[in-house]
Formats: sequence, structure tokens, C-alpha cells
Amino acid sequence: SYVVTTACIDCKYENCFEVCPVDCFYEAANMIVINTEECIDCGVCEPECPVDVIKPDMIDVAGMWIALNQKFAEQWLDICQKGDPPADVDELGQKTDKLALLAE
Ligand code: SF4
Repeated sequence: SYVVTTACIDCKYENCFEVCPVDCFYEAANMIVINTEECIDCGVCEPECPVDVIKPDMIDVAGMWIALNQKFAEQWLDICQKGDPPADVDELGQKTDKLALLAE
């Protein structure tokens, strides 16, 4: 499957989930996640994120995000409609070391 990784924290552009054919994106406390059991690995969401947070789970950077995407997907609600990203989303998207901001 594909997973959402660190740079999405606090950012949530929300460009990704409208293209997903199986609606497997969920909105966690302060990021978007993918339900890894529902994802059919089509890859169409990957190029949609302006800060490149969506990764196939077989690459190293996916690491802990595989379990966290599934955990959050089971805790939070499916999202089907694009909301408004934060006003400072471009700045947030460029921030590094966002892990400390992760809300569970
Ligand atoms: Fe949805 Fe395809 Fe992205 Fe998986 S890879 S989350 S099925 S758009």
C-alpha cells in the first residue's frame, strides 16, 4: 500500500483523497492517513501532494508510518470532501522535523 509520511503533520493540503478510487484516506488529529488494508496500490495519489508526503510502503522512509497510518485510519473518520487547508499551509509544508507536532 501507500502511506502518508511526516511532512503532512499540521499541513493537510488535502489534494490527495479526491483522486483515490477506493476512498481510503482518513483524517487524523493533525494529518491525513491512508488505511493500508483498503489501499489498492494504484499510486494515483502519490503525485497529487505538493510536498511529496505519499510514499509506497516498501521504501525505507515509510518505516513507522506503515503502522501509524493504519492505527490512525482505524481511529478516525473517512474523508470524502476536501476541506480548507490552513492559511499558512505553504510555510507548514516546508517545515522539517515535524514529528514533535504529531497529535494522536
Ligand atoms: Fe488510494 Fe490508490 Fe493512493 Fe492507495 S495508492 S491511497 S488506493 S489513490
